[in-house]
Amino acid sequence: MLKTISNFDLKGKRILIRVDFNVPLSNGLVTDDFRIRMALPTINHCLESGASVVLMSHLGRPKGQIVPDLSLIPVGEKLAELIELPIKFSDDCISEDARDVSLGLRPGEIHLLENLRYHNEETDNDPRFSELLAKHGEIFINDAFGTAHRPHASNVGVSRYFLHKGIGFLFEKELQYLGTVIKKPKRPMTLVLGGAKIGTKLELINKFIDEADAIIIGGGMAFTFLKAKGINVGGSLVDESMLKTASEIIEKSRKVNKRLHFPVDVVAAKSIDDIKSIKELKIDKIPNTMSGFDIGPATIERYSKLLLSSKTIIWNGPMGVFEKPEFDNGTLKIAKIMTKAKEEGSVVIVGGGDTAAAVKSYNLIDEMSHVSTGGGASLELLSGNRLPSVEALEG
Ligand code: AMP
Repeated sequence: MLKTISNFDLKGKRILIRVDFNVPLSNGLVTDDFRIRMALPTINHCLESGASVVLMSHLGRPKGQIVPDLSLIPVGEKLAELIELPIKFSDDCISEDARDVSLGLRPGEIHLLENLRYHNEETDNDPRFSELLAKHGEIFINDAFGTAHRPHASNVGVSRYFLHKGIGFLFEKELQYLGTVIKKPKRPMTLVLGGAKIGTKLELINKFIDEADAIIIGGGMAFTFLKAKGINVGGSLVDESMLKTASEIIEKSRKVNKRLHFPVDVVAAKSIDDIKSIKELKIDKIPNTMSGFDIGPATIERYSKLLLSSKTIIWNGPMGVFEKPEFDNGTLKIAKIMTKAKEEGSVVIVGGGDTAAAVKSYNLIDEMSHVSTGGGASLELLSGNRLPSVEALEG
């Protein structure tokens, strides 16, 4: 059975916590501390229970090399600032020195280990590396939902060396929303899909064609579907390799009588940087010289109505190229409508990755029921797949 941190008596114990501190950095400073803040409830709970804490995380992809720009030192500084406590830091996660620091921790103290991925053994799920990591703690808690779908040493391999192991509060919340809530959703349930790639969301689409009451499609991926329906989408993004799959999805949705909703208009331009050429166009009136980069006002209105009549909303993928202010109106308006739906009692779940980044940039995180900290992991869970790091804790 999967245990959570609340199941353990933590007093006087050393807790090894796998956190997801894979945060963006610029000039040696953390530019977005969302993931650090999300780990605080678990860390604080350990400290308040009279335990000491050893934290381990990866940062970026140093691929087994010591890359100073990917050091966790700035993350430790940010954490110390947020938690208002000094943090001990070790510059190698498996050195004897690092282990001695952990063994010498007193209740209430925190020890942060350097980037796990300075060692290739982390992503190789190497047993010896896992064993050395395990020496840091007496209880293992996994609170790193962002890597939950990857079988690595610090989340899967390490579990084997602990009798007492479980998940932290953040992981528990992710499982609750992305797993449990959608098993028995308040209906109607609407899935909102966007972004560029269909391939990574195929499993999700197939599952929700059966389980959702409606599917709304926006973003670049809509054009592949529209082209498959025989509509000329001009120069808009189309994944030619997915046209057949898109037709099959449309056909399946017809068979099970589930409507897929596509944009009826777009904000288009000759190219993404040609701001002067920006125009709102009906979906079947996009000339070959123009491309759609955002959903248009008529689409926003339709989608808003649908969302306000939904009781459970799951959102994965931006409605347009939200990174550019000229094309982020659709994503912003849809995000705002979701906060209204939430205010009116609906459950609104936002997947990680780009969608979470967009919601964060609008300062709307706290207005949603749940914004996931994991992109790939949230997709896996929503698609109904098991997570290897959860299986490792159950075994
Ligand atoms: P994905 O990783 O598949 O969720 O795609 C996210 C990316 O899709 C974001 O970087 C968006 O800029 C991009 N995107 C969204 N809408 C469009 C569009 N209409 N044309 C091109 N790219 C888009």
